[in-house]
Amino acid sequence: MLSIVKTSQAKNRIRHWFRKERREENIARGRDALEREARKQNLELEIIRGERIQEYARRVTQSTVDDLYAAIGDGQLIPSQVVTKIRDEYRTEKERRPLAEEMMKKAESKAAEWGKPTQGIRVKGIDNLLIRLAHCCNPVPGDPIVGYITRGRGVSIHRDDCVNIKPIQGEEPERVVEVAWDKDFQSPFQVKLEVTGMDRAGFLNEVLNVLLDLKINASWVNARSRKDQMALIELALQVRNTEQLEYLINKIKRVKDVYGVRRVSTG
Ligand SMILES: [Zn+2]
Repeated sequence: MLSIVKTSQAKNRIRHWFRKERREENIARGRDALEREARKQNLELEIIRGERIQEYARRVTQSTVDDLYAAIGDGQLIPSQVVTKIRDEYRTEKERRPLAEEMMKKAESKAAEWGKPTQGIRVKGIDNLLIRLAHCCNPVPGDPIVGYITRGRGVSIHRDDCVNIKPIQGEEPERVVEVAWDKDFQSPFQVKLEVTGMDRAGFLNEVLNVLLDLKINASWVNARSRKDQMALIELALQVRNTEQLEYLINKIKRVKDVYGVRRVSTG
């Protein structure tokens, strides 16, 4: 069929259409396979839906649930393994639910005092928690933050303007707890930056030299050229706090031909 199509533009359009079509098929196939497997394991379909599967999808580095389905649909992931993993998490979560409820009650009480710090974070009214800094917004000391009592995995810490925390504040306010940075904690925190500028020789090096000068570690760098003569550099770095981060951003902005520097959050 492709051979009778005259222009390459039309060919591209058709290829694109086939690819899209294939993705949609894979999504449907993946979803079906997952549900079939859940039934086989005698699980309620609820268990492999909603927040639980979203979290799972994020964790296996597929960004959305559709991506996860598509990966199952084209054979990259095995449905029985996915379902087993989610089922095990569900069981752990159920065992820990009373703990989560107890935490919520403690945090709610007005007279609550700040708990002992864990990994640089204090939670109002609660000690000894599993603390996890959320990867969607990568908070660093100095950012206003809130805690979210997860289903069975302790408290995850978000910037208070994170797109993932906003809806929860409205729907499940009892899960959102007051948290604060522990000033004595000195370990570095991860942030992601996006630098745009003119696509020219030496641009990436000059940006990386700023990091070198400030002795800031980049754990990941990705640079690419865009069609419009723009270079896009993505960086994952370790900083101590917002002051250091702002200082760094201002330094990068002063590199020749830099158009913008942005701290990145993913939804
Ligand atoms: Zn977040």
